[in-house]
Amino acid sequence: MFYADDSPIVRSTKQSLWPIYACILQIPPSHRYYQRNLLTLGLSSSRIKPDVDVFLRGILAHLETLIHYGTTISLSEQEYHFVVRIQGFLVDLPAKSLFSKTINFNGRFACTWCRSPGEYNTVYRVMLYPYEKNDDQLRTHDEFVQAPQTAAAAAAGTEVIGRETIIDGCESSTLIYGPAIELYSLHSHLHLADQVRHHDGLSYSSAYAFETCIRYTKGKAHDTRNLASQISYWTNIASIIKQTEASLEVPHGANEIFLESPILEEFREKLKEFI
Ligand SMILES: [Zn+2]
Repeated sequence: MFYADDSPIVRSTKQSLWPIYACILQIPPSHRYYQRNLLTLGLSSSRIKPDVDVFLRGILAHLETLIHYGTTISLSEQEYHFVVRIQGFLVDLPAKSLFSKTINFNGRFACTWCRSPGEYNTVYRVMLYPYEKNDDQLRTHDEFVQAPQTAAAAAAGTEVIGRETIIDGCESSTLIYGPAIELYSLHSHLHLADQVRHHDGLSYSSAYAFETCIRYTKGKAHDTRNLASQISYWTNIASIIKQTEASLEVPHGANEIFLESPILEEFREKLKEFI
């Protein structure tokens, strides 16, 4: 799972740091977000937003090699072959806009999941995504690439007709809070269930660990020059220092309890009614 965000690093010179981190989802949640288990894939430090093509070029080239050929790592005198698969890219909306190369994160076709259009509300002066105009048809990659032309056509007055879906929470929120609540951040909740189906359970995934990691990363740089180089130097040094081996706790929960188990004695008759 990837993560990217920006954070001011030198306020006087308005320099920001853009790190790209990754965590390994196969590591159990209790150890996954330890500092030593988070990977720093790239850093950009500048007064302006990075050019994502330049920023990602090297990272993507390495990832493509790892996806196609994998890598071999020696652990306890045994060689293991690892291949890399990308599960997701966790970012806030401004960073999503930067990395997906859209002008705004709340544009007319901001949703990367469905085709629901946004409408600029002149009263509230925000872009809203009215529930009754939802179009829950999923977008394809080709459509996403074509979206700028569609948006231009829409700006010229072409109508986009929506299809209604029923998701009570988002639908009724307008009745309670008024139409100004229908921001993109509310609309995106409509896709939460599909995203959980797509990515599996997300209850143990966290963005907070990465937020903390940015502060830790910033601590590796001093003064106002060559900040990304300083950070990458100390990150490399930290990565070659031998880590102590971590041991996993024995889980206390049980995935399965057989009906014959003595701990189900008093519930057994009742449970049998459900079988
Ligand atoms: Zn959507």
